[in-house]
Amino acid sequence: MKAVIIAGGKGTRLGLSDIPKPMVPVCGKPLLEHQLLLLKTHGITEVIFLTGYLSEKIEDYFQDGAAWGMQLSYIKEEKALGTGGAVLQLLGKIDERFLVLYGDVVMDFDITSFIGFDAQEDSVASLIVHPNDHPYDSDLVERDQDRITRFISKPHPDGLLYENLVNAAVYIFSPRIFDYIPQGVASDFGKDVFPKVISDGGLLRAYLNAEYIKDLGTPDRLSKVEKDLSSGKIARWNLKNKRPAIFLDRDGVINEEVDNLSDITKFKLLPGVSSAIKKINQSDFLAIVITNQPAVAKGFLTVSELEDIHKLLQTELGKERAFVNHIYYCPHHPDSGFEGEVKALKTNCNCRKPQTGMIDQAVAQYNIDLKSSYFIGDTTTDMRTAENAGIPGILVETGYAGEDGKYDARAHLKVENLEAAIECILTQSKKENDHIENAV
Ligand SMILES: [Zn+2]
Repeated sequence: MKAVIIAGGKGTRLGLSDIPKPMVPVCGKPLLEHQLLLLKTHGITEVIFLTGYLSEKIEDYFQDGAAWGMQLSYIKEEKALGTGGAVLQLLGKIDERFLVLYGDVVMDFDITSFIGFDAQEDSVASLIVHPNDHPYDSDLVERDQDRITRFISKPHPDGLLYENLVNAAVYIFSPRIFDYIPQGVASDFGKDVFPKVISDGGLLRAYLNAEYIKDLGTPDRLSKVEKDLSSGKIARWNLKNKRPAIFLDRDGVINEEVDNLSDITKFKLLPGVSSAIKKINQSDFLAIVITNQPAVAKGFLTVSELEDIHKLLQTELGKERAFVNHIYYCPHHPDSGFEGEVKALKTNCNCRKPQTGMIDQAVAQYNIDLKSSYFIGDTTTDMRTAENAGIPGILVETGYAGEDGKYDARAHLKVENLEAAIECILTQSKKENDHIENAV
């Protein structure tokens, strides 16, 4: 597969005046060079730069790419027509699917895995989407499973409830994308091109992602990125490397326990939860919600109403710059006999806790290092789930506080609330890392 890098940006906000933004040095190397090295690791050696502002700075540095063992070429845009216009210059020059990166984004991701996802279906485009810590002013996507159904550009409509899924600006395009880019006028993928694909019934697929992909906006962010790069965090978050997770039960841990919560107006985050989850986000741990929602099988609420509650959860966390990487829920229930129940969901599944089906799914999807992971819950069902998964279970004294009496399951630790649980985990994990560093 060939890669295309959009590299026409100015670096005004970074205070750059003599080089284009993608040439900004990050730990001593231009950002674009980091991208090329990543591409090469995944066997991509043919790269086309779409340049504009100070194009010669890029061409002088990389030339034909021979020094990197790559074949590089350049298309300089004379008149800036947005990201759409830049890509449209490839019309007639490329006749197979191609990867598109933005030259001002810091990234380390498993490109091979993304290409594998893209190959599953013949879409117009595959897009990497991820939660971030400022969803309220980001361009969001809505989806039905993998299929993207809507783009919500900033500024958002008032009172919007959203899933925290942001367009990460990493794409694989079919050449059919050119049909949707207007000729001769400026266009933007998120605002113009993708919405047109959707309204024409074209398929755009969302690839959910927890790897390090961050726009390099301001000097502040640059120094943070350099810190993350030199500490190895950016590489550690690559899907090829196993990452630990903190699995979180939902009701009674994140939000107030309400028996069979089905009314969205009764959803309320517990105090201190956002800042606690934010601490997970800043660590190497993934934050993964694992929740039984038998109320769906019982007919108390629909899947769509449940997903609205999950949007509210993510919107509320998002306001405080916190996010969960994924919410897995079990909609099933084994016992029949409720009026209005959904027969198809009345089944003995393997996802209902204390079974580990949802954890297994998360482990496979995010390449989780189970032996360094934890489960935080408020019930004996949660503690039994942790036992079944072979990981420490931490019981919190919110919600049922372990008084549900369902299983004879012991907690590894019992603490006041989510905040205290996360504090314990992060302190413990820091100690272990220090220990490993000292041993080396
Ligand atoms: Zn289930």
